Amino acid sequence: AKNKGKNRFHIFDHKDQDLFNKKTILTMDLRDCIAENSLDIHFQPQMNAQQHVVGVEVLARWKHEKFGFVSPDVFIEIAEKNNLIYPLGLQIIDKACFQLAKWFKRKPSVDFKTLSLNISPIQLIEPKFEKDLLNLLEKHNIPAEMICLEITESVFMKNYQTAITALNNLREHGITISLDDFGTGFSSLNSLWKLPIDEVKIDKSFVSSMSKDDSLFTMVESVISLCKKLNLEVVAEGVEHSIEFNILKGLDCNIYQGYLFSKPLPADLFEKTFLDK
Ligand code: C2E
Ligand code: CA
Ligand code: CA
Ligand code: CA
Repeated sequence: AKNKGKNRFHIFDHKDQDLFNKKTILTMDLRDCIAENSLDIHFQPQMNAQQHVVGVEVLARWKHEKFGFVSPDVFIEIAEKNNLIYPLGLQIIDKACFQLAKWFKRKPSVDFKTLSLNISPIQLIEPKFEKDLLNLLEKHNIPAEMICLEITESVFMKNYQTAITALNNLREHGITISLDDFGTGFSSLNSLWKLPIDEVKIDKSFVSSMSKDDSLFTMVESVISLCKKLNLEVVAEGVEHSIEFNILKGLDCNIYQGYLFSKPLPADLFEKTFLDK
């Protein structure tokens, strides 16, 4: 028994050490990556009910030389914990605006109306954020009205007043705010009316199960109808099958996003697929 225990400990220890090593390597390499400004971005279209592109969400991508693609869920968290998210976030915005400006100049140029950017709580509550964002928009000549910032409800838990003030200031410039992953956090339906937001994104976990689960369907139905009453746009994310698209259309959802239409694509592929026709 003693021997067995020792073995088990040994194996556990080993895996733990590997995980630690990988995190440490990723943290160091992410730092280099930011210093070199070498992170990538992909673009996923957002469609209206007629399946026209009305917006595009920017998603960060990191291809590690040894580990391959690292999920943004992983490296964004590393960036948040190591004081890297602020500079990283600005690099992503800079790259996205640079690309959008390029698409403005080509023929046919973009005809979608929003560029959605994912913003961490740490970015939003940073006092410099508003000024830094506006500077980047000016640098690339992007109208503020085209920018939608996707935030999550977690920002209201710790920094309620700071977040509200920041959002109000951003909205004064015409920037719109989207509440991402709606339904997964702590906020209830009746807190929506008091938040300074323009749009709600129904989390993909609801969208993917709604066709099989009556109570989830009812929940999605209620969210959409409440948003209509509050004049909020509703986006459904993670639309993978036409059955989901059809149900959501029946509920009069405004915007649809997911693999049914397209995965997030590198700029050149996005351009070929959605801007050339
Ligand atoms: P999110 O903002 O909720 O983004 C949606 C995620 O769902 C993306 O994963 C997207 O690729 C994926 N997705 C899109 N359509 C479908 C679908 O039909 N089915 C399924 N199963 N998934 C779909 P991704 O790109 O791995 O990003 C994961 C998360 O990482 C994002 O979740 C966001 O929270 C974060 N993230 C990504 N880019 C950035 C960024 O530039 N800044 C910040 N702060 N966070 C980012
Ligand atoms: Ca998002
Ligand atoms: Ca989401
Ligand atoms: Ca998410």
